[in-house]
Amino acid sequence: MTIQSPTVDATDYLEDSIDAAPKHGTTVQAGWGAADSYLKPAKKAGEYATDFRMTEQPQLVRFLQDAPFMVYEQHWIDRAQGKRSFVCLGEDCPLCTIANDKPRAKFAFNVLHLSDEEPTVQILTAATTLARQLRAANDDPRRGPLTKYYWALSRQGTGPSTSYTLDRVKASDLADEWELDSEDVEAIAASADSYDATAIYVSPREELLKVARELVSVN
Ligand SMILES: [Zn+2]
Repeated sequence: MTIQSPTVDATDYLEDSIDAAPKHGTTVQAGWGAADSYLKPAKKAGEYATDFRMTEQPQLVRFLQDAPFMVYEQHWIDRAQGKRSFVCLGEDCPLCTIANDKPRAKFAFNVLHLSDEEPTVQILTAATTLARQLRAANDDPRRGPLTKYYWALSRQGTGPSTSYTLDRVKASDLADEWELDSEDVEAIAASADSYDATAIYVSPREELLKVARELVSVN
């Protein structure tokens, strides 16, 4: 982890105070509930965001917005610890300029994952193929916009030959096909917290510089 600025202590302190439970006028509290707010690891932006994973089995989602909340480019780099992704920093990105790695476009959508036990907001990160299909569905008056219907999403194949199936599901079919009540789902969707760009971790430039230099020295 690269230190972003010399005031790291102050930053940590700020993060701790933001994440601590409301103190109700005093810092003296009782019980494990109160203790837990201090015992849990400090929450960094995006750390708890869960990614929606496409599977061969269709999974039901409700899009929370008609458009991606973040569009960015991503590097996918081989590291000693395995492949790791890094958000591209654009013109001055060390992975582009020093390591000559080509980033790929990513499109992040907020979806309410309805096939889970408890519906949860997850981030569906689409590459261009899927993003094109979502755009087409959104723009199609019979299927879109994305938030108008529910979607059963599935994936076939792997690697470059991966294809995606987007099946529109009407509210009236939720009960029969998915054993869900559309009014319940809509109430959950209305009060769900969407992720924003802070959920997607952007490494500091110094970290990318270090990774880029390592890549160049290895090759
Ligand atoms: Zn880059």
